[in-house]
Amino acid sequence: MKQFHLIYENDKRFLEQLEEIRCWCSENTAYKKVFRIYSDDMNTEHIAHVCELLDREMPEALYFGCTSNANIQDGSLAEAQILATCTVFEYETTQTLLLQYPFTEANAKEVVDDLKEYCRKNSWVNSVEMVATIMDMSMKGFCDEMSTLREDIQVFGGGAFNPNMDDEFAVVFSKGSGMLDHGIVFLLLGGEDFHAYSTFISGWKPLKRRFRITKADKEVLYELDGKPAFDVYKRFLNIEKNENFFSNTLEFPLFLERDGVNILRCPLSVNEDDSLVMSSDMEENAYVKIAYGDPETILRSIWQDGQKISDFQPEIIQTFSCAARRAFWGDQNISKETVMFKDVAPTSGFYTHGEFIRIGGAMLNFNVTLVIAAMREGEPRETAAREFCGPTFKKLDKIPMIWRFVSFIEASTAELEAMNRLLSITAITDGLTRLYNRAETERRIHDALQECGESGDRKVALIMLDIDNFKRVNDVYGHREGDMVIIALSNVLRKVTARYPGAIAGRWGGEEFMVMMAGEQADGAVKAAEQIRELFASETFESAEPQTVSVGVTFRHDSESIDSLCNRVDKALYQAKGNGKNRVEKLD
Ligand code: GH3
Ligand code: MG
Ligand code: MG
Repeated sequence: MKQFHLIYENDKRFLEQLEEIRCWCSENTAYKKVFRIYSDDMNTEHIAHVCELLDREMPEALYFGCTSNANIQDGSLAEAQILATCTVFEYETTQTLLLQYPFTEANAKEVVDDLKEYCRKNSWVNSVEMVATIMDMSMKGFCDEMSTLREDIQVFGGGAFNPNMDDEFAVVFSKGSGMLDHGIVFLLLGGEDFHAYSTFISGWKPLKRRFRITKADKEVLYELDGKPAFDVYKRFLNIEKNENFFSNTLEFPLFLERDGVNILRCPLSVNEDDSLVMSSDMEENAYVKIAYGDPETILRSIWQDGQKISDFQPEIIQTFSCAARRAFWGDQNISKETVMFKDVAPTSGFYTHGEFIRIGGAMLNFNVTLVIAAMREGEPRETAAREFCGPTFKKLDKIPMIWRFVSFIEASTAELEAMNRLLSITAITDGLTRLYNRAETERRIHDALQECGESGDRKVALIMLDIDNFKRVNDVYGHREGDMVIIALSNVLRKVTARYPGAIAGRWGGEEFMVMMAGEQADGAVKAAEQIRELFASETFESAEPQTVSVGVTFRHDSESIDSLCNRVDKALYQAKGNGKNRVEKLD
């Protein structure tokens, strides 16, 4: 596989470059030729002219392409507005096929069905490269369909764009099919000697804190954790609604968790109602994390993943890089993240409106990402892959300062979260007994009554307990021994309620306790009460003699209030005391 980069400046120069290709082909083994044409010149007549030249001068060659935000030539931001790369295949076994379709959300399934049919008929297909106009579309349906493609087929590509990011106009085109402003082109590649390795690199890193998407519709993100989505940017990052919104949020886009992969989405603008217009579809109930991007972190991850691409020993590298990355880096610096690939293999591509790649069968539509397709014919030529020449600082052991800050934030957040968990447990627990406190016990009774509703088809039983002659324990053996008796009863309550799923026990106050049993378990309340009474009576103490407890039991009447129910169980307990203590009384 041999790659030529051509730029269109004028006919004469372009024809000379075609002649060079022809020459090379005559001196070498050359089979098929495929041109990829990317243009940030939005004058479609200029693009059509280049296509005409290819039709006339090299009719046997295939070509396809699209308009772009900018082009990548030799791994760098191209100056040329119309870039054409010519891939010459050197193996007779390598096969190619171009398909072009009009493309809308409505016909996405039909398009993919047709592509699938081609893939079925041509078992040689192992890769599909695509360019598509996607600007005003949700790609969810398309991606779902593409995910059902034959499992072993890789897919990669990009969304056609426009140098003006606010302009919705873009086209795709291919040999024999003309040009479409709502279209998609697939280049099917394969054959036993054609190998592709596709991957993606973002370089942005997620912070751990997750937010749930509580309201979203297509690309409009309304709410995160029940609050207007803009609130996250305002509250955590102090980003204002102003003309710098897009460039500020580019440093902190959102990672959307989909199919186990973190997909970047960037907020493009804020609406009046504080909802955010995102770069692609969001999904209700999915989780997002704030991502942070800084040049050094990004370059480091490209260097890390770049080695895998180098190990594949490709002969050409196609890149589909997000136009948002170009906006993030600026034209002075954008080439830093792709230029090192040209030492691995000729590298070209374009700045897209969205990137596509199939990962583990799932077709994903990324933003702010660099999708890389490395291709090769035959086995690797060198015995060992070259070391990937990453950025010069890769040899430095110094950790970037932002990583230290992020580590600080993550550690502080983890501590706070642990503290919050502890606080929320403390807030509902009684300090001495570790049972629920009075407020939590009441809340749970209240909730159980709510669940029963008016119908009363679900039973609720209350068991109320009070230690007998407890003042005496305190008076004779001291307060500490008294505490031990209280703790002993609470342990008995824990033990017995554990036998009845759903039963809960709480300290009602002093040496009074409450047990609630709801549902089918409620029928066992009298039995449970008796078990508690007996078990407690058999407890022994350091100095005090065995103690006893009086118990009242009652059941909720239809649509009865919590107060009325508690009054009755209290009455039952009072009866137990009145009838001689150390006994269970039930009041219906
Ligand atoms: P009765 O059989 O009628 O229930 O008699 P009693 O002595 O148990 O009477 P009462 O329920 O009025 O006594 C409650 C006592 O419990 C009074 C209070 O000093 C004591 N008490 C309340 N909370 C605690 C505690 O946390 N530790 C200790 N040691 N004593 C407590
Ligand atoms: Mg009492
Ligand atoms: Mg008592």
